[in-house]
Amino acid sequence: MFRTNNCGELRSRNTGEKVTLAGWVKRSRNLGGMTFIDLRDRYGVTQIAFNMEVNAELCEKARKTGREFVIQVSGEVMERSSKNKDLPTGDIEIKAESLEILSASETPPFTIENDTDGGEELRMKYRYLDLRRDPLQRSLALRHKLALETRKFLDEQGFLEIETPYLIKSTPEGARDFVVPSRMHENQFYALPQSPQIFKQLLMVSGYDKYFQIVRCFRDEDLRADRQPEFTQIDCEMSFVEREDVLQTFEKLARHLLSSTIEVELPEFKRMPYAEAMEKYGSDKPDLRFNMPIHDLTSEMKGADFKVFDNAPYIAGINASGCAGYSRKDLDKLTDFVKRPQIGAKGMVWVKYNEDGSIKSAIDKFYGQDDLRERLAKTNAQPGDLVLILSGDKKPMQKALGELRLEMGNRLNLRKPDDFAPLWVVDFPMFERDDETGQLHAMHHPFTSPVAGHESLLRSEPEKALANAYDMVINGVEIGGGSIRIHDRDTQKTVFEALNFTDDEAQKQFGFLMDAFKYGAPPHGGIAFGFDRLAALTAGKDSIRDFIAFPKNNAGRDLMIDSPATIAHEQWNELRLKPIDDEK
Ligand code: ASP
Repeated sequence: MFRTNNCGELRSRNTGEKVTLAGWVKRSRNLGGMTFIDLRDRYGVTQIAFNMEVNAELCEKARKTGREFVIQVSGEVMERSSKNKDLPTGDIEIKAESLEILSASETPPFTIENDTDGGEELRMKYRYLDLRRDPLQRSLALRHKLALETRKFLDEQGFLEIETPYLIKSTPEGARDFVVPSRMHENQFYALPQSPQIFKQLLMVSGYDKYFQIVRCFRDEDLRADRQPEFTQIDCEMSFVEREDVLQTFEKLARHLLSSTIEVELPEFKRMPYAEAMEKYGSDKPDLRFNMPIHDLTSEMKGADFKVFDNAPYIAGINASGCAGYSRKDLDKLTDFVKRPQIGAKGMVWVKYNEDGSIKSAIDKFYGQDDLRERLAKTNAQPGDLVLILSGDKKPMQKALGELRLEMGNRLNLRKPDDFAPLWVVDFPMFERDDETGQLHAMHHPFTSPVAGHESLLRSEPEKALANAYDMVINGVEIGGGSIRIHDRDTQKTVFEALNFTDDEAQKQFGFLMDAFKYGAPPHGGIAFGFDRLAALTAGKDSIRDFIAFPKNNAGRDLMIDSPATIAHEQWNELRLKPIDDEK
């Protein structure tokens, strides 16, 4: 047998057993007559002891094995005299009787420890070494468990896992497609799926009733922090359902996943219309671990000769409870925060409610203290509180206040990684207007149905039409989103028209779906979860990168295999492609 045990399982009950272990040298220590090696594998770390007096030759050999050497050791399990409480195997050690070096290692470019000294780039380049580290091994084990529990749960509910193709034609999730040139068909390209959306709808037309797939999706988006050009979804679709059926099914999935992996029982899922989420939290994915809502103060604050407010279409604020003690410097920092281009406010007005009952603010001279207190009554500010007010155009200022609210949540430590506040955001608008082109875009995707009664708005006032769409949001993170679909040709046509698709274009791009609807399409709906993000959230982490074995960096590059890369001359020719000539 290559090994009798792994490095994480021996305990004092095994004392006296002869064992063989194999693994990596995490570190070794020479203490005069003794040499100790911490031997590591995926399961844990076990201490191996070499005694100069018992076997000098073996001890010398042990001293020559460097960090990350792969070795095989045999010996006897002994109770340790000084136990290590921090290690599950800390009560025992192996008294080495033989040592085999299976593979030497150069000194690794960074330490393989929980807190490594390696920078991000270096660790990406040597990802296979980074993946040896315990936090990453735990992340990937959690991801595995989540996938397993997803399959178990959905299987029990009668879902079938069905694979859909990767080499397809454009899909409509609103990002750019990655395309793959076809060698056999000159000047033609496949597109990689942004999601299996159309296929899963076709599977409903085919009568599969309940489908799911843990599936890779590809979106060629301008890279934002923590976006991956390829990512994984738990993609689901169901027939003969209403919104409520879908919400309940997937609320149960979320509950099951969190309880089976981290033993968290999720509280009740609130339902919140999109409009309310924007009004109160300035976000379509509100973090409800803390309250601190936005208060619209537009009518209250006008008419005191304070020009900034008198001229603003929208004035609103939040009550940062307990922050009246903020120094000038703190307040300047917050002002700088809201003035950053990503947040976009021109400035910020603060009002301090001092403990002695007085009020202090830069706008004192426009409003007397009492007047100010009255006008800000809505915010419920009490002595000790700090009210922060922004003004300007409504939409951008709602968003800015949403960001400011999150910033205050961070500062006040109200966003705890082990709290979970789930909700469904519902009743999204069907369409969004592109400010630059004036074009309508589907807020979800063009197969989303309007809520009952809003069908006629699609033509008359498309921007007022609400969609039968929903997002699952936990702790300010959009975990999943979906909708009840259109299942008749007429409504589908109307939506394509609103989106300014000509009949021809619609026919060319989605003709097969429109055709399929001719042959008996059941009412259906579904959802897709961002699996990488779900794993990160479950672990209480912000970044999805540690939950993907081989991720790309923020510029969309794989630093380890060095991709994207150019291709051989013959490949260019075979594909009848030409490199762009920089000379021209
Ligand atoms: N295909 C959608 C997405 O990827 C999800 C859905 O509507 O089921 O966001």
